[in-house]
Amino acid sequence: MAEFSGRSLYVTGGASGIGRAVVDSFLNEGANVTILDRSKDGLAAIKAQYGEQVICIEGDVTIFEDHEKAVYQAVEKFGGLDVFIANAGVFDGFAKFENVTAEAMNDAYDLLMNINVKGYFNGAKASLHELQKTKGNIIFTVSGAGFYPDGGGVWYTASKHAQIGLMRQLAFEVAPDVRVNAVAPGGTLTALNVIPPLKPFVKEIDNDTKAKSIKTRNPLRIAMNADDHVGPYLLLASSKSRAITGEVISSDGGLAIRGL
Ligand code: NAD
Repeated sequence: MAEFSGRSLYVTGGASGIGRAVVDSFLNEGANVTILDRSKDGLAAIKAQYGEQVICIEGDVTIFEDHEKAVYQAVEKFGGLDVFIANAGVFDGFAKFENVTAEAMNDAYDLLMNINVKGYFNGAKASLHELQKTKGNIIFTVSGAGFYPDGGGVWYTASKHAQIGLMRQLAFEVAPDVRVNAVAPGGTLTALNVIPPLKPFVKEIDNDTKAKSIKTRNPLRIAMNADDHVGPYLLLASSKSRAITGEVISSDGGLAIRGL
């Protein structure tokens, strides 16, 4: 899509997994991308590959000032901001709440909700003013766990429902200037991290077992890779979607048609 050439995007969690695939796809369309991530190595790899087309900022999505810095640098270097993609997230490893101590669940709540929910809010808040100037748009990476049980444990599932609520209310509040939508991937083969307080309570799953489990759970029988989800981001970011706001596009192998 030639329309992304020279456009300025800001992506959180773009150094790995789904965020990295989304970053690659927009860069390949000629866009400029600013990335906030806490992975120094992941950011260094992107910088080495793309040079001046990217700004890489090592930081934490729970810190509002880190987003302000990213937006400031995007505007300084690339002349504005057209799209914000909130994507950085962490996982609870399907921890079953009855098996976890209340103390660990409380710690897990603070850590996971701060990153998955407040991190999305912080990025949207820091980006909004610049997006209003360009009549830009926001895309949240949510999850099948935002609709169905058993895509994670209680906190991950609650965080993904919360992201959808946040997306819908923001879409309502910032219309008509800015559109806000979401992409809901299904289980995907990435390095998505289990947060430290829950690690003692969950089993590490190897990639083959994960792939088999993902395949058997969706009607298309796909063990999804990060690249499988980039289409909906390109579509939602495009002016061809100018009538779409407050929507979620699922990219999950058909979880809604699993049947009884
Ligand atoms: P990933 O671990 O490969 O990528 C997440 C990125 O976010 C990493 O680069 C990590 O360093 C960064 N990050 C995490 N916490 C951060 C913080 N506090 N500050 C800055 N950066 C931080 O995992 P992924 O699977 O690509 O996850 C991306 C998004 O996709 C998440 O929102 C996740 O919930 C969602 N998702 C993943 C799956 C899946 O099965 N992998 C399915 C549905 C939705």
